Amino acid sequence: MQPNSNRARDKAYVVHQHTNLAIYDRDGGTLITGGDGVYVTDEDGKRYLEAMAGMWSASLGFSEHRLAEVAYRQMKALPYYHTFYARGHLPSVDLAETLLAIAPRQPGAEPLTKVMFHCSGSESNDTAIKLIWYYHNAIGKPNKKRIIGRHRGYHGCTIATASVSGNPTMHQDFDLPLPGFLHADNPHYYRFHEEGESEEAFSQRMADNLERLILDNDPGTIAAFFAEPVQGGGGAITPPARYFELIQPILKKYDILFLVDEVICGFGRTGSLWGCQTYDLRPDLVTCGKALSASYQPISALMLTQKIFDAMMAESEKLGSFAHGYTHSAHPVACAVALETLNIYESDGTVEHVRRVAPVFLDGLRSLLDHPMMGDVRGVGLFAGVELMADGGKRIPFPPALKVGQQVQDECQALGLIVRCIGDRIALTPPLIITADEVAELVRLFRQGLDNVW
Ligand code: PLP
Repeated sequence: MQPNSNRARDKAYVVHQHTNLAIYDRDGGTLITGGDGVYVTDEDGKRYLEAMAGMWSASLGFSEHRLAEVAYRQMKALPYYHTFYARGHLPSVDLAETLLAIAPRQPGAEPLTKVMFHCSGSESNDTAIKLIWYYHNAIGKPNKKRIIGRHRGYHGCTIATASVSGNPTMHQDFDLPLPGFLHADNPHYYRFHEEGESEEAFSQRMADNLERLILDNDPGTIAAFFAEPVQGGGGAITPPARYFELIQPILKKYDILFLVDEVICGFGRTGSLWGCQTYDLRPDLVTCGKALSASYQPISALMLTQKIFDAMMAESEKLGSFAHGYTHSAHPVACAVALETLNIYESDGTVEHVRRVAPVFLDGLRSLLDHPMMGDVRGVGLFAGVELMADGGKRIPFPPALKVGQQVQDECQALGLIVRCIGDRIALTPPLIITADEVAELVRLFRQGLDNVW
């Protein structure tokens, strides 16, 4: 590395997020300088097929000029305003109306009638936690405050969202989780089913364990349950058969609010506009982000049912103000870009495209099951997870010290394919615009990466 190169300056000044800082200090990293379609390019001109869509998020790839133009127009018209103190601006009104019109609503579910905008999935989930506490104070149930997440669930990295998340590395030495956060089982069928246990029986066991957790902790103290339709950061884990069908009645039975975190799944990732549609979920609160603006601007949303908003209204009458909000919440440029993103999904038929290309993607990955390192391939839409195993049939993992997932990720990157390892699980979530030919290239490079490690 040249002493004053861009990479040397990066190493000198930037603290990288979710990075092993010691390894980064030793080996350095990659600086991405451009993008076209589903590809990005580094500063040496090397091109990579971005099979993670950045951070599961760049749904329209890296060169969607319609979004750049809308951002430029909005910056000239009104570069900034806020929604504090009863003031507002049109881009937030237009986005709110459009988003609520397409919000998930399964038969039997309460409609989501209000929306709050923030800058990140973490902020929306963090706000949801505060709001869930506020709501229970408002309705005279001040003891109902505990939140249940799931092991390996991921909902963000603020103090509260890292607490509801179930990733031990996000708790260790951060003095988390906070008290009042509980964790239900990780519904990862392949890893955790018992010999001969069917998916349905496994889901029943997960549901029974959840009910026991609620009863052991006094249902009168449990406020909400948080779940991603497909667990992303936990390893791209699709729910086993009937899992949510069995979980949801338990939440109803104990009067527990259901927050569905659509931060990754929302806007077509699972082959429906929402994960709620794919898995028939009936939430009280929904968060989304990432693909809301195709990641061209930082924006996220928290959608609410009317009963929660009514309680907020009652508190406002009592307390004088709803005392929450961030300077850049509902930023007009981000709102304008998000609105254009939703228009593009509609006009370009992005969800239909996902449905067409998903079988090519999932079958392509399943064709790798003949590889000796492959244990499991699972997925839905353009959301796939691969389990690397020393012996897939017997579910014998590689020794963790070998860091096989990291090796595969590094080999793929050397070949021009960006994937994400989560331990020995590999997640693949390419931009939603990926074509069948690009999927074939992805599968070919991935096999090559596996071969190079084997
Ligand atoms: N929820 C889920 C399901 C996520 O995957 C993420 C981020 O990956 C978040 C919330 C947090 O979003 P952000 O990184 O925008 O704060």
